[in-house]
Amino acid sequence: MAVSGAEIEVRTERRVQVVNITAKVKEASRKLGVAKGILLVSVRHTTCCAVVNEDEAGLRHDFERLGDSLLSPFRGEKGYRHDQIDDNAQAHLTSILLGHSITLPLSEGVPVLGTWQSILLLEMDGPRPRTVDLTVLGE
Ligand code: ZN
Repeated sequence: MAVSGAEIEVRTERRVQVVNITAKVKEASRKLGVAKGILLVSVRHTTCCAVVNEDEAGLRHDFERLGDSLLSPFRGEKGYRHDQIDDNAQAHLTSILLGHSITLPLSEGVPVLGTWQSILLLEMDGPRPRTVDLTVLGE
């Protein structure tokens, strides 16, 4: 059982944005030459998320509003404390809720996904360059 890895660079273009990284992940994982195993996809950041879901225009819009809809009831009169430092507490908190990594089965060198499943990077504090790590355990 071997462990191998790769990095993917993603440059986001808006403050809040859903980026479909499925093709990049498949291309990079295929190059690792591992036929069967487990693929970990993780972001190196505290204000973006990695999720598996459907890449549909309306849903992308809904995802982009998710942070506001989830966290607005918790905004106090003085706002979040972290906003006093760099004004992105909501991005950090959304990242905690949605997670920074996903794990997928790997078959024939690529992640196994259902018909409507895509690997999405959810940017919450862009635009920024983002690094996504792929770690494969398999043979
Ligand atoms: Zn911050």
